[in-house]
Amino acid sequence: MELNIYHMYPEVLNLYGDIGNVVCLKKRCEWSGITPKITNFDINSEKKDLKDGDIFFIGGGSDRSQNIVYSHFRKYTEQFKEIIEDNGVVLAICGGYQLLGEKYIDSAGNEVPGLGIFNYSTLSEEGRLIGNIIIENQLNLLPKTIVGFENHGGRTYSDYKPLGIVKTGYGNNGKDMKEGIVYKNCIGTYLHGPLLPKNPHLADYLILKALERKYGTKSLNEVTEVNEFEYLAHDKVIEMYSK
Ligand code: GLN
Repeated sequence: MELNIYHMYPEVLNLYGDIGNVVCLKKRCEWSGITPKITNFDINSEKKDLKDGDIFFIGGGSDRSQNIVYSHFRKYTEQFKEIIEDNGVVLAICGGYQLLGEKYIDSAGNEVPGLGIFNYSTLSEEGRLIGNIIIENQLNLLPKTIVGFENHGGRTYSDYKPLGIVKTGYGNNGKDMKEGIVYKNCIGTYLHGPLLPKNPHLADYLILKALERKYGTKSLNEVTEVNEFEYLAHDKVIEMYSK
């Protein structure tokens, strides 16, 4: 089995160790006997067709980076939308998450356009939302908690199903207790950190969703024995975060 993982704009969107998410997906695929093929897709990429992608990762970036990426990514909007509708797996973090929405209004009131794939908007408000965050995931994953680190000025207001309910920290906007969005197999979130090495159950979820779409796999146990020990290690991370 083989999974094509696209790392979108790794040179521009790469805050707070976001690349660790791709390393984690790669390693966990390898440990399960799945061959990961990583493609770095950058602003110079002329590849026209992204449809061979199984998992897409979009990291976070400054407002300026978001603008740079937007001018290239917008050419792929329709295709990307179709991939999401067709259950393609997408993980978009912070700036990348904002980019999938309609727009981001920065602290000076300037608009950074988004791809408009989702109808949420992000508004920069006074003070940045910074710190460790714990959420209770809404994907029915065990362990229930997902942990990470957030640092954003933008507040996202959305009616989509959230990735999680905030237990500690701020999440989408620091007000409604929602963190991130889930739509089909697309996840948007403010959790950096990097997210996946700290939450291997989420990494395995994304891998399983990609395998399910491509090969009809129903459980990772069909492919490998899920390593309980790593999930136990995750409990230790939660303990540390809760102190
Ligand atoms: N525009 C984002 C913000 O709200 C960028 C932050 C990020 O990707 N960490 O601050």
